[in-house]
Amino acid sequence: MLGWDGLEGAQAAITGGASGLGAATVEYLQARGMDVTVLDRDTDKGQAISSRLGVRFIEVDVASAESVAQAAEQVASGAPLRVVVNCAGVGGAAKTVSRGRPHDFEKFARTININLIGSFNVASQLAAIMSQTEPYNPDGGRGVIVNTASVAAYDGQVGQLAYAASKGGIVSMTLPMARDLADKGIRVNTIAPGLFLTPLLDELPTEVQDSLGKQVPFPSRLGSALEYADLVGSIVQNTMLNGEVIRLDGAIRMAPR
Ligand code: NAD
Repeated sequence: MLGWDGLEGAQAAITGGASGLGAATVEYLQARGMDVTVLDRDTDKGQAISSRLGVRFIEVDVASAESVAQAAEQVASGAPLRVVVNCAGVGGAAKTVSRGRPHDFEKFARTININLIGSFNVASQLAAIMSQTEPYNPDGGRGVIVNTASVAAYDGQVGQLAYAASKGGIVSMTLPMARDLADKGIRVNTIAPGLFLTPLLDELPTEVQDSLGKQVPFPSRLGSALEYADLVGSIVQNTMLNGEVIRLDGAIRMAPR
């Protein structure tokens, strides 16, 4: 199955939808006729995108089972849920041992809680809701979950211990989650982005952005959030794509530092 048939007016829920890759995806899916719900913990940015695009905003902390359960109730009361995109995530840098001191335990746990457990939490709770909908296509498909890992899952750099571990977990979760949800007609795929120009990198001086962009073999520049959103769109439309992790990175392989 290809295309957007059956998806017009259906719901797409996007975590981290208030900023960066998530916000671009919100705009992209809304432009294709989907009824978009933004799930984010940043209320200022969430309300801003909500009033700019007229999409629903629900404040949520993806790392909390209760918070996601409350949001899931609201999602369930909306249009049939067909697309879930997990974009909420945090960075952070710390080495395994630095100046004789071990990596801060809480810092490591926080990154895993938001990036990995948060993605599991949202995917599992919203898959339960998606599984209650009527199939929308002749394959018996009900929808798709798109997770966001990172090239750090494969090429974690010095100081990326917690981040790389959290993203590696998302990569490893992809196939078993797709297998678990196959009998419900729900697909699961993961995008592993390279270097994208979002508020995360926007704060860096232009020279640093340029030098990061030059490290990308081709095209030698930072990716745009729209290119990420467009891959989400391809994953939504091509229903043979399932259980896969796709690097979106201009062939970059990160150096140790
Ligand atoms: P961003 O900081 O612009 O957006 C992240 C969003 O997640 C923010 O709106 C933030 O409020 C939200 N968020 C953070 N913690 C949350 C929580 N506990 N509950 C709910 N919302 C929460 O970042 P981005 O660059 O758009 O990144 C999006 C995703 O893509 C992240 O998972 C990131 O790790 C991943 N990624 C980004 C890049 C890049 O180059 N930008 C590269 C690889 C992977």
